[in-house]
Amino acid sequence: MKLARLPDGSPEIFYTLQGEGLSLGSPAIFIRLSLCNLHCHWCDTPYTWNWQNTPWEHQDQTKFSKEKQILELTPSEIAPLIQKHPCDRLIITGGEPLLQQDDIPTLLNHLPAIKFIEIETNGTRTPSPELQNLPIQYNVSPKLSNSQIPESKRIHPDSIQFFTQHPDSFFKFVICDKKDMSELEALRSKFDIPASKIFLMPQGTDAETLQKNSLFLAPICQQQGYRLSPRLHVLLWGNQRAT
Ligand code: SF4
Repeated sequence: MKLARLPDGSPEIFYTLQGEGLSLGSPAIFIRLSLCNLHCHWCDTPYTWNWQNTPWEHQDQTKFSKEKQILELTPSEIAPLIQKHPCDRLIITGGEPLLQQDDIPTLLNHLPAIKFIEIETNGTRTPSPELQNLPIQYNVSPKLSNSQIPESKRIHPDSIQFFTQHPDSFFKFVICDKKDMSELEALRSKFDIPASKIFLMPQGTDAETLQKNSLFLAPICQQQGYRLSPRLHVLLWGNQRAT
């Protein structure tokens, strides 16, 4: 499997608290897989996809060496790096983890102590039948036009429909302004997404900005039945990697 690397070269596997969504505050082991099929302008993990000699644009304008940023390990090599942490919740994030979905069941077979599994996805890939048979919670973050990605690339109707109907899937949207809310409402209406499956999250990389933007979202949640999710990791640790 292709994993993202931390600055010291080690694989990006870390033990922390889930900072967003349904299991907010739960102790969790994160594993960050490399590669993404989207190239969002503001992505906070461009080291998983913005390779040298590619045309993709990112607000930071930094290009990364694919060879240096990816660590390739087998599921049996990854398992002990996960199992050394005293925790039964695993969150597979990226990049876009479902690009490597064929390897995920094998990885999980090596992890008998893991009882709760979450996959963070951009919602453009439908889980394979094998994954669909596993007890996985999907945290789905469809991208809006502020990502500067064409709609045909970032919204895949079949996948959104799958996640809408899947009982353990929830949608997360970082909302900056009224335009984002209009797009979210259009998506919700088009795919008939229940309001109770939708988490709104404030934009921001510091506590003050998060609070200000949460006050914009709170009345919308009250009116529409959405859930408001803080971004706990930002509140606790700021904009730091692997926290
Ligand atoms: S989908 Fe996620 S990981 Fe991929 S580019 Fe967009 S924000 Fe980054």
